[in-house]
Amino acid sequence: MEINHQKPHAILFPYPLQGHVIPFVHLAMKLASKGFIITFVNTQSVHHNITKSQPNSTKEDDIFAGARKSGLDIRYTTISDGFPLGFDRSLNHDQFWEGVLLVFPPHVDELLAKLVHSDPPITCLISDTFFVWSSMIANKYNLINISFWTEPVLVLTLYYHLDLLIKNSHFASRDNRKDTIDYIPGVRAIEPKDLISYLQATDNISTVVHRIINKAFEDVKRADFVVCNTVQELESETILALQEKQPIYAIGPLFPVGFTNNTVPTSLWSESDCTQWLSTKPHGSVLYVSFGSYAHVTKQDIEEIAFGLLVSGVSFIWVVRPDIVSSDETDFLPVGFEDETKGRGLIVPWCRQMDVISHPTVGGFLTHCGWNSILESIWCSVPLLCFPLLTDQFTNRKLVVDDWRVGLNLCDMRSITREEVARKINRLMSGKLADELRKNIKELKKVLENSLATHGSSENNFNQFINDVKIKIR
Ligand code: UDP
Repeated sequence: MEINHQKPHAILFPYPLQGHVIPFVHLAMKLASKGFIITFVNTQSVHHNITKSQPNSTKEDDIFAGARKSGLDIRYTTISDGFPLGFDRSLNHDQFWEGVLLVFPPHVDELLAKLVHSDPPITCLISDTFFVWSSMIANKYNLINISFWTEPVLVLTLYYHLDLLIKNSHFASRDNRKDTIDYIPGVRAIEPKDLISYLQATDNISTVVHRIINKAFEDVKRADFVVCNTVQELESETILALQEKQPIYAIGPLFPVGFTNNTVPTSLWSESDCTQWLSTKPHGSVLYVSFGSYAHVTKQDIEEIAFGLLVSGVSFIWVVRPDIVSSDETDFLPVGFEDETKGRGLIVPWCRQMDVISHPTVGGFLTHCGWNSILESIWCSVPLLCFPLLTDQFTNRKLVVDDWRVGLNLCDMRSITREEVARKINRLMSGKLADELRKNIKELKKVLENSLATHGSSENNFNQFINDVKIKIR
């Protein structure tokens, strides 16, 4: 088939959350390094936070300036998400989602009307699968519609087959169905407790999130291509089954392999440097604790984790975001906790996670099971202690603990106790089980490494994707 040799020009729209912006930036870099021209669009709020978090940066700074200096054609612009910069998006979830659902699309439309005839003209739309407007915009501006899925394909598959979950009364089941789900193509079996929390009745989610899910996962069925931040070998059966419906490309893990030299700032918060502190600790002795950028933890759980850390005797770095507890409370750590763990524990509001978990003194990661954190931890061969809190994290936990055996559950129910926290931390950090987890995760790391090598699955899939896009641009 004939291939168009003009450089493809793609406009990228990440979902305005930390865990989506990061892989989108890496996708932009990877595409640009293969000759794509990229226009990258952040919300003004995301841009404001990124520039604010950078030392010596101003709000006019273009986050891709460094990438352009190294020869990549990445253009950068911002649009409003409909809220003023001072609006607390973390504490006003529903309003924020409502804005993303309703206010965002006209802004995207306006931007495309302005940019579509750039030089060279924009040919591809690459938007986050959670956006509900992608096919509408792609059709209007005659663009190739590429959906970028930043989570495991298992999660995409469950959303994709929402109709089957509804038909079998497993979606938000009021009857509290506990029987195994074994009818989703490409998913041998999954327990209702491992569904994405938005699909479970126990998660009292708002109607706006349901509206997004209903629309977004119908819209993705109209995409020309779906690229996913996962690895073929990690989810081969599930990927193969979904490929029968649509062209799906597993191209992950998407992070720069020489990540410490990352030239594009992506962090929404200032990063505390932990490396000096880490260097004073013995090899593999430190537990890293983080619940990502978005999830909230109850004050009671924070207390149980704090006492668990105290009792465990293990050294730790704990990322305690100022908004980690979803209330106005600021003093949620137990009184005297920081003094009692002085020297053994380091509490920071945010850090450069990859620098921390790739440090040889880190031997375990107590995580909320965000997908980026899981991929990063596998990459650094650090076993996981899983404490899922919402959305895909419950399904991701299943992959880590039940399927790949590279992690442990923090607790069997959703409530935790300090004794169990201490016991699980110690089991993760040393002993026979810890050795086994370490061995398994090293093997999984090799799978990731191989996938990115020349002729590895992700590299092949990425090249195939680019080829297929070029054929379609003809
Ligand atoms: N992260 C970081 N510093 C921190 C905590 C998290 O750089 O202190 C990064 C982490 O490396 C990951 C992203 O933020 O790339 C979080 O994404 P993830 O999918 O793990 O969780 P989410 O925030 O989306 O729930």
